[in-house]
Amino acid sequence: MAKQKLQSIRGIHDGLPAQVRAWRHIEDVARDVFSSYAFAEVRLPILEPTALFVRSVGEKTDIVSKEMYAFEDQGGDNICLRPEGTAGAVRAYLQAGLTRAGAQRWFYMGPMFRRERPQKGRLRQFQQIGAEFFGVSGPVEDAEVLAMAQLFLDTLGIQETRLEINSLGCTACRPDYREALLTFLQSKKDALCETCHERMDSNPMRVLDCKVKTCQEALTDAPEMVNHLCEACDTHFSGLKSGLDALDVPYTINPRIVRGLDYYNRTAFEFITDQLGAQGTVLAGGRYDGLVESLGGPATPAIGFAAGIERLEMLLPEVQQAQPDIAVVALGDAVMAYALQQAAKLREAGLSVIHCGGGSAKKQFKMADREGAKFVVTIGEDEMKAGQLMLKNLSTGEQKPLTLDAIIQTLSSSS
Ligand code: ATP
Ligand code: MG
Repeated sequence: MAKQKLQSIRGIHDGLPAQVRAWRHIEDVARDVFSSYAFAEVRLPILEPTALFVRSVGEKTDIVSKEMYAFEDQGGDNICLRPEGTAGAVRAYLQAGLTRAGAQRWFYMGPMFRRERPQKGRLRQFQQIGAEFFGVSGPVEDAEVLAMAQLFLDTLGIQETRLEINSLGCTACRPDYREALLTFLQSKKDALCETCHERMDSNPMRVLDCKVKTCQEALTDAPEMVNHLCEACDTHFSGLKSGLDALDVPYTINPRIVRGLDYYNRTAFEFITDQLGAQGTVLAGGRYDGLVESLGGPATPAIGFAAGIERLEMLLPEVQQAQPDIAVVALGDAVMAYALQQAAKLREAGLSVIHCGGGSAKKQFKMADREGAKFVVTIGEDEMKAGQLMLKNLSTGEQKPLTLDAIIQTLSSSS
C-alpha cells in the first residue's frame, strides 16, 4: 500500500530559502529603521492566556469570536496561540513594571495565528512586524510613528501604498456618534448584508468597513466620526495632520477606517495597496489609550501598528539569492585535507565558500556553476606544493595563480 504524504495544515506554509531570504531582508530593514527612532526589539511568547485577548481585543471581534486557536492544555489552563502582538506587549509591559519607567518604544516580529479562510494574503499562520510606543499621548508622536512606518515601506522599495488616516474619537465623543450612526444604519437596514446586521449589535462602526458593494452604496451618506469629534480629539487630529505635513508624509482622510479590534481610539491608520486585491492592507495601527488601564495598569496612552510580512513580501522587488564567493575544486585525494583547510581559512576571512566535494574537475566546475559561485579556487598537487592556488573569475574567465592571502585580499576588496 502506498504511504500517504503528510501535508501542512491549510493556510500554514513553509518558509523555504527564497521566502526566508525575503523575510530576513524585511526584518533587517525593520530593525534598521525602527532603531533609528530608538525603538528596541522585544521577543514575546507565542502562547498566551486566552483571557488576555478576550479582555483586550474584545469578545465580539472576529479575531476572538471565530479565529483564535484556543484550547485547554493538559493542566486545564485556557491558552491560545497569539492572534496579534499588541495585547501581549501590553501584558509584558505591565508585568515588567515599566509603567513608571518613562516612554517605552518597542518593536517585535514573529508568527501570529488566526483560523481564517485561507486565501491570497490571508493565512492561518502569518508573521507580523509591529511597533508599540507606550506612555506618550501627543499628536507629534503619532506623526512620528506614521513617518517611521512610511520610512520602513520606502526603504523596502515598496512604492505603491497610500496612507489613509481617520480619528475614532474617544470615550467622550464616540457614544453620541455611535447613536447617530445606529439611527442611520437602522434607516438603511434592508440594504445591508447579514454581517452588517450582526455588527450593528456588536460593533456598529465596523459596518462602515464592510467590503460588500451594495452595503458601501447604502453607506454613502453615513455620519462620519471626524465630524463628531470633541474638541480635544479634534485638536489631536489637527495636530497629527500638521505633523504629517511637516514631515512630508502624504495621506488622505478616510472616514471608513475603523480597525477590527475594540481597543483603538483617536488616530487610526492603514497603509493600503491596490496590488493585493481585497487583502490590500499591508500595515495598520492606531492609538489605544485605554488598553493598558483595561488590562489592570495605570492609565497610559499608547500607539502602535503591525505589518504582515507575507503581504510585504508580495510587494517586494525580488531579493537576490546570496551567491557563494568561492567554490573550492580539489583535484585528487592527495590534496583533499589541504583543500578542506584552505576552504576553512577562506571562510574565517569572511568569504562564503562551498567545497565541491572532489571527483572529476568537470563535475566540480559544473557544481560551482550551478550554485552561482563568483570564483573557483582550483587546488591540485602542484598548487599545494607551490602554495599558489589557481583563482578563476567565473564571469570573465580570467585566471591566475595566487597565494591564499592574496586571494583573500583580492576578494575582500572587490566585494
Ligand atoms: P484584514 O482587514 O486584512 O483582515 P486585520 O484588520 O485583521 O486585516 P490586523 O489585525 O490589523 O489586520 O493586522 C495587521 C496586518 O497583519 C494586516 O494589515 C496584514 O498585513 C496582516 N495580516 C492580518 N491578518 C493576516 C492573515 N490572516 N494573513 C496574513 N497577513 C495578515
Ligand atoms: Mg482580519
